Amino acid sequence: MGSIVDAEQARNLSLFRPLGYQRNSCGYCKSDSGNASYYASSVSVRPVHYDELVNRGWRRSGTLYYKQNLQKSCCPHYTMRLEASAFRPRTDQRKASNRWNKFILGSEYIRRAAYLCPKTREEKKHRKCNFDLLTAVHEAEYSNVKRPIDPKTKKYLEPAHRFEVNIEGDSISQAKFELFLKYQTQVHKEDVSKWQQKDFKRFLCSGLQRFPADPKSNEKKLGSWHQCYRLDGKLIAVAVLDLMPSGVSSVYIFYDPEYEQWEFGKLSALREIAFAIEGNYQYYYMGYYIHSCQKMRYKGSFRPQYILDPESHTWDPLDGELAAKLDKRPYVSLSRDRRLAAQDTPETAESDVTEADDEINDEEVSLFDLHMPGVMSLEEVKALDLDHWLLLVHGNFVHMIDLVGWERMPLDNPQSVKGIIAELAAALGPSLLNKSAVVLFD
Ligand SMILES: [Zn+2]
Repeated sequence: MGSIVDAEQARNLSLFRPLGYQRNSCGYCKSDSGNASYYASSVSVRPVHYDELVNRGWRRSGTLYYKQNLQKSCCPHYTMRLEASAFRPRTDQRKASNRWNKFILGSEYIRRAAYLCPKTREEKKHRKCNFDLLTAVHEAEYSNVKRPIDPKTKKYLEPAHRFEVNIEGDSISQAKFELFLKYQTQVHKEDVSKWQQKDFKRFLCSGLQRFPADPKSNEKKLGSWHQCYRLDGKLIAVAVLDLMPSGVSSVYIFYDPEYEQWEFGKLSALREIAFAIEGNYQYYYMGYYIHSCQKMRYKGSFRPQYILDPESHTWDPLDGELAAKLDKRPYVSLSRDRRLAAQDTPETAESDVTEADDEINDEEVSLFDLHMPGVMSLEEVKALDLDHWLLLVHGNFVHMIDLVGWERMPLDNPQSVKGIIAELAAALGPSLLNKSAVVLFD
C-alpha cells in the first residue's frame, strides 16, 4: 500500500499530540488548581497554523500548547494584540528609549557630534515635536551612529558603547544559557538548580518551525527566533519571538540584571513593534493579559490595545467597556453579553457559572460537558470529517477510519480514542483539520 501523504504534503502538516484537559496551580495568585486548560504538545507546528491557534486563544510554552478555560480559571488569560502601525508611544515609553540612546552614545559623543555634524534647523525642530519610533529604536545602533573624524584627536569620534542587535535562529548557546540563569535567579529569585540546559532548550528553543533557513535572507521570517542585544560585544539581552504571518508574538525576554534600570520590558516592546512595522507583520502580540495581575497592567499601556473575545474570537478595544467590566468580574466576553442582552436575560451575564457546573469534576468528564468558551460543541464536531483526519503511527500516516473499531467508538466518551480525537478537534477549531495530523500511539 502506498503512503496516503507524499513528502511535500507531510512537510506542510502540523503535528499535535492531545494531552487533554487539566487543572494546574496558578503562577499568578498561587492557587493550587485554579488554572484550567486544554493541552496538546508538538515538536512541529507551522507558523501559519500557530497564527490560527493564537487567534483562537492558544499559546505555547516550548513544545507545550495550551488553551485556557477562561471561565473556570482564577486568573483568566486574555489574548491581546495591537496594530503595530497604529501604536502611539506614551511619554514614559519615549523617555525609556531616549534614556537608553543617551547612555549608549554618551554625553561626550553627543557634545562633539553636535559640533562636528550639526543638525539642520528643520531636523532639530522635527525632533522636538515628533517621536519617530523607527528612528528612536535604531538611532544608537552602532551601524547607524555617525563617526566623523574628530580634528582635535585625528581619530574617529566613537560613542560611549557599541550597541548591536541582530536576529538569529532559536539555537542554544552557552552565552544565552548563562544570561538566562542570571536573569531567572536574580530577577525571579529562582533556584539555580531549577534550570538545566535541556529545560531551557525545551522552554525557549523549540516547538515552532522556522523559515527561511538563512537569517540574512530577505524572505519574511516566520517561526521561532531570538533577537539578541549586545553591548560592547557582550550578550546583554535576548528577546524570544514567535513570528507569524499576521504578527510578531513576544514569547519571553531575559536580560542582564545589571541593566535593569534601563527598563528592558519597555525597550524590547518598542523594538518589537518597530520590527513588526518594518517586516510587514500587521500585529504585535504581547502575550496574555491578566487583568487581576498588577504586574501585567503595564501591557495595557501600549495603546491602542485589543483583546480577543473568548467566545466569538473577535477583537475588542481593551479600554472602555471591556476594562470597566473586567474591574467587576474576572470572565468577560462582550459577544456573550450582547447575545444575552438581546435575549433580554441580562442577569445571567453576571453569573453564568451554574452550581451544577461547579460540582463537575472537570478532569474526568468530556470536554464537551464543560462548555468551554471558544471550543466547538459536540454537535459542531459531529459535522466534521474526523474519519479522514490524518494519524501518524510509527512514522506512517493513516486515516482515522483505518483504525480498527473506529466507526463504533463513542464520540462523547473521553476515554475512547475517538473521544480524545474529537476533543482535540474541538479545541483546535475546524480549519486546522485538513492541515494537521494527530500523534497518538508512539
Ligand atoms: Zn490565579
